[in-house]
Amino acid sequence: MKRIGVFVCHCGINIANTVDVDRVVEELRKDPRITHAQSYIYMCSDPGQELVRDTIKNEKLDAVVVAACSPSLHELTFRQASAEAGLNPYQCEIANIREQCSWVHEDRERATAKAVKIIKSIVAKTYLNESLEPIRVPINRRAMVIGGGIAGIQASLDIANSGYEVVLVEREPSIGGHMAQLSETFPTLDCSQCILTPKMVEVGKHPRIKLMTYSEVEEVSGYVGNFTVKIRRKAPSVDWATCTGCGECMEKCPVKVPSEFNRGLDDRGAIYVPFPQAVPNKPVIDRDNCVYYRTGKCKLCESTCEVGSIRFDQEDEIVEEEVGAIVVATGYETLPLQRIAEYGGGEVPDVIDGLAFERLLSASGPTVGEVRRPSDGKVPKEVVFVQCAGSRDPERYQPYCSRICCMYTTKHAMLYKHRVHDGQPYIFYIDVRTGGKGYEEFYHRAEEEEGVVYLKGKVASIFRDGDQTVVWGTDSLAGRNVEIRADLVVLATAVVPGTGVQDLAKKLKIQTGENGFLNEAHPKLRPVESITAGFYLAGCGQSPRDIPDTVAQASGAASKVTALFSKDEMEQDPMIAAVDEDVCGGCRVCISVCPYDAREYDEEEEIAVVNEALCEGCGACVAACPCGATQQSNLTDRQILEMITASLGEE
Ligand SMILES: Cc1cc2nc3c(=O)[nH]c(=O)nc-3n(C[C@H](O)[C@H](O)[C@H](O)COP(=O)(O)OP(=O)(O)OC[C@H]3O[C@@H](n4cnc5c(N)ncnc54)[C@H](O)[C@@H]3O)c2cc1C
Repeated sequence: MKRIGVFVCHCGINIANTVDVDRVVEELRKDPRITHAQSYIYMCSDPGQELVRDTIKNEKLDAVVVAACSPSLHELTFRQASAEAGLNPYQCEIANIREQCSWVHEDRERATAKAVKIIKSIVAKTYLNESLEPIRVPINRRAMVIGGGIAGIQASLDIANSGYEVVLVEREPSIGGHMAQLSETFPTLDCSQCILTPKMVEVGKHPRIKLMTYSEVEEVSGYVGNFTVKIRRKAPSVDWATCTGCGECMEKCPVKVPSEFNRGLDDRGAIYVPFPQAVPNKPVIDRDNCVYYRTGKCKLCESTCEVGSIRFDQEDEIVEEEVGAIVVATGYETLPLQRIAEYGGGEVPDVIDGLAFERLLSASGPTVGEVRRPSDGKVPKEVVFVQCAGSRDPERYQPYCSRICCMYTTKHAMLYKHRVHDGQPYIFYIDVRTGGKGYEEFYHRAEEEEGVVYLKGKVASIFRDGDQTVVWGTDSLAGRNVEIRADLVVLATAVVPGTGVQDLAKKLKIQTGENGFLNEAHPKLRPVESITAGFYLAGCGQSPRDIPDTVAQASGAASKVTALFSKDEMEQDPMIAAVDEDVCGGCRVCISVCPYDAREYDEEEEIAVVNEALCEGCGACVAACPCGATQQSNLTDRQILEMITASLGEE
């Protein structure tokens, strides 16, 4: 008979306040299948773990159940403690009596009875647990980073500087992301380009970084340690190997279309480099707008190019890269102005968004750093900044706080005053959120020393009247409605996930949350890992954040990758699906339901097989298998039935 020990945690008052822990232990001691039952105030603490280890040895236990919090928090902790005492770690199970019991109930009697049932059902499962060995897979110590904003740049440099090769895939013609568009950065007001461009250059020249700009991931196959990635290298219509980046072609191009980088505040040609400090500094032809591609005539760029680098017939290329880990750093976009019609977005020329204002402030921007309004180029004397334009508005727009707008709007108002000394900035806000080092002081400086007027209230409407832009809002502290006839209005539009992130997430088989941002494996304990092994997250693709947090997270993701690469092979959880070859009828239903492509059909044997390295143990195939041939290790149908029986035991 298996000797099972049960350890019940009080979790301070988290469990003990609702569940009568002593009575639970008393009940468990009456169960003949349980050899030992005991409680402790914090089982996860050092003395708690020591208690588990000592009892395993002294009582010669074959298996352990720890009744505590969710297994996602401490399953690993207790499995390690059990292993240290000589037990197979898969003979240790967690009964969740916190999230599934004490936290969701108030009635102490009933919660106590439920806790006993939860524990007994896990004991029933543990009884049938087999000792398992982790699956070992070799690791290709080469990484891919998707997205070349500051997050992707930092992650790439950290991994490459640790001695591993990196493939950096960026869909735009240059790396840099949004940070390249910023003027100065809060709270220190240091120049964004000055701190970013040296890093961009380092990436471009790094011997261990293979930079693929103007490229996108098409397909990913494989599993942690061994991914094969197909990448589409879009045709720039220019031979970058011979192009000297002299820029002559761009000057001759007759086309003028709004520059995306400058948020439509000036124009670019059909052949263009997004911005002068681009890495690589090579042009691409925008085929949708190029006269030659549209009409078959022009070729002015070709006749201008002295080295003959223009390639109108160049085609997209699909290349394959083998890597062991992938960092997803795909960043953010901002809610399009046009979506916010009540604020004149897209209609009123002097209503712009925060990134456009960054370009007006920037020394490398279309106005060389002078603040001028788009409608007539005049210097605006009254500027209204509107925060939460599309954020914290669950009924119409995004429900969440975009987290960076309070700070960058304060920066905008301050920098505007530095450029236009006699100008007046107003900021409409719901609350001012300044959680960050030196942020609160920065806000106070703006309000108390720089003459920025803060108005607590929502803006109802913005419209054009003559050459002015009228803002109707409320000042809730003064209890009155306010009308400001502004020269320029800047909306702090919501930060939203990048276009195409859902598609990419599907290709990578990683998850997104309800607002479309990439989901981490655990918000507190595994914030830079995706739930799918081998994928790590960095930057605003996961949620809105400022540059310091982005860089810190990117370094965190990079260190996860280098930790993975520090071994020759990695161990994977063996709690996966297995096929009983004698029972499998070869119907292939399991293959169609597997979200991880971990099932294949063996033509010779005419059965379905499991790729152990790919299987994540989600159980979809087990549920779908019509003949019970697929079973999950340590969660077989028999174990589930035993658990149900134990749960339905007497009240
Ligand atoms: C108006 C404004 C002002 C700001 N000012 C400040 C400030 O002063 N201080 C501060 O700390 N923060 C500021 N921020 C925040 C700052 O911009 C972000 O913290 C930072 O840029 C996030 O970097 P990232 O790399 O995560 O994302 P991004 O900069 O968005 O970079 C993501 C990159 O991934 C690429 N990409 C996307 N999808 C794919 C794909 N499928 N394949 C390949 N590549 C892809 C994109 O092209 C882009 O290059 C400001 C933000 C705004 C909107």
